[in-house]
Amino acid sequence: MSTPDDTLQHVHLVDHPLVQHKLTLMRKKEASTNSFRTLLNEISMLMAYEVTRDMPMQEVEIETPLETMTAKVIDGKKLVFVSILRAGTGILDGMLTIVPGARVGHIGLYRDPKTLQAVEYYFKMPKDMQERDVVVVDPMLATGNSAVAAVERIKVLKPKSIKFVCLLTCPEGIATMHKAHPDVPIYTAAIDRQLNEHGYILPGLGDAGDRIFGTQ
Ligand code: URA
Repeated sequence: MSTPDDTLQHVHLVDHPLVQHKLTLMRKKEASTNSFRTLLNEISMLMAYEVTRDMPMQEVEIETPLETMTAKVIDGKKLVFVSILRAGTGILDGMLTIVPGARVGHIGLYRDPKTLQAVEYYFKMPKDMQERDVVVVDPMLATGNSAVAAVERIKVLKPKSIKFVCLLTCPEGIATMHKAHPDVPIYTAAIDRQLNEHGYILPGLGDAGDRIFGTQ
């Protein structure tokens, strides 16, 4: 059985001051849709920097104005960002700004309001997933049910690796994800106190999808 410490070994807390500052601004209830979206986009770029830290590189020969050298490049096309609809879109945009060559997959999942279980309504991935590294994105890892279901579906396609990026999570979400997928590291900007009975993270930032799209 895993202890909370085991569970946290798979969690990368991105505690950079810029990320923390922007997250605080997003949490405020008076943040406008425009500023919420802009801040999420900026944080996502910073999270992309962290989640791609161990990306494989290749050496290529190039010519500088002075001489020939061997230099390193990444193969962005090998990376797939998988957005869990609809709120994942808010993170996807920032990630694509940093890795514009990445491929994109989408999974449509909604939470049954009674059972809080994830129900799939859409699934579209790039070809040749066995050759690709996957980064699944969703701003809130709350009950963990959507994340677990999304990763389960993606695993069937046997990608080289899977990571999960969120903005916020809580102990319940981490435990659920760790129990189902202990091999999937979680990147997050904060671990909040708890879930409430409706599956919302406390203190949290409310409904991420509504705040991104202004649908409250
Ligand atoms: N989804 C959200 O948008 N917010 C939460 O707090 C939990 C799940």
